[in-house]
Amino acid sequence: IPIIMQTALDSTESKVEGLEAGADDYITKPIEFAELKARVRSMLRIKRLQEELEERERQLLEANERLRHMSRTDGLTGLDNRRYIEQQLDMMFAHSERLGEPLACVMCDLDRFKSVNDEHGHHAGDAVLKQFAAILKGEAREIDRVGRYGGEEFVLLLPGTVLDAAVTFAERVRKEVEGHTFVFDGGTVQRTASFGVAGWPHPRISNCDRVVRAADDALYVAKETGRNRVVRFDSEEFNAHTLANDGPEQLGG
Ligand code: GH3
Ligand code: MG
Ligand code: MG
Repeated sequence: IPIIMQTALDSTESKVEGLEAGADDYITKPIEFAELKARVRSMLRIKRLQEELEERERQLLEANERLRHMSRTDGLTGLDNRRYIEQQLDMMFAHSERLGEPLACVMCDLDRFKSVNDEHGHHAGDAVLKQFAAILKGEAREIDRVGRYGGEEFVLLLPGTVLDAAVTFAERVRKEVEGHTFVFDGGTVQRTASFGVAGWPHPRISNCDRVVRAADDALYVAKETGRNRVVRFDSEEFNAHTLANDGPEQLGG
């Protein structure tokens, strides 16, 4: 509310004091009504401009927030996009190192997904991806991050979670996917998914990139050993398979 101060004190000092006390304008007695009217109008003009400015600022903040959300989100699934999940990993890993808390990473990939596209069309494939994303999001806790890492490859970051618990979690998701009927416009389809799980701290994992790589290598073994499986990084099976096949690059050293 604009304030016009009106008083019989007409010294410069008094005017300055009035304005400094918070008045927007100042008129002295005797009141000239024509002047008062003009000053009120001028005050209202400024007030309107101020309100417009505030409205624009609000719109700008909203637009910025929308852009920020878009830059972090995968458009199809609504999950974190790869860039954002990588940023989150950096932050979570630094946090885990500082507090000595465990951090687990689960990589998963739909099995024989390409055939959904080939047999039912791209829209069916998209619907499957969305539902798969919803299953992951539904099983994850509030503090976990769920991201789309590539086309039909997803990553979950589970802070404060040890490797064993992450394997149990992945197994639960695997079962849910196995029992799920994916629905799309014009039909339904069943699919399974494969999972690779890694956890920090681990003697063979020295930095955050290696957490993801370890989970990815375990996922590779899950695919190689028949799909619809959960494989743990550095398990006997993992080591036997990676050594025997010279598959993924070794992480040791
Ligand atoms: P595997 O069991 O070895 O994982 O076999 P796959 O068929 O699932 O894997 P592959 O990597 O051969 O195929 C992935 C397919 O995912 C290829 C690509 O056309 C499809 N894809 C990637 N992104 C999208 C998308 O956004 N929408 C749809 N509909 N398909 C996608
Ligand atoms: Mg696949
Ligand atoms: Mg794939």
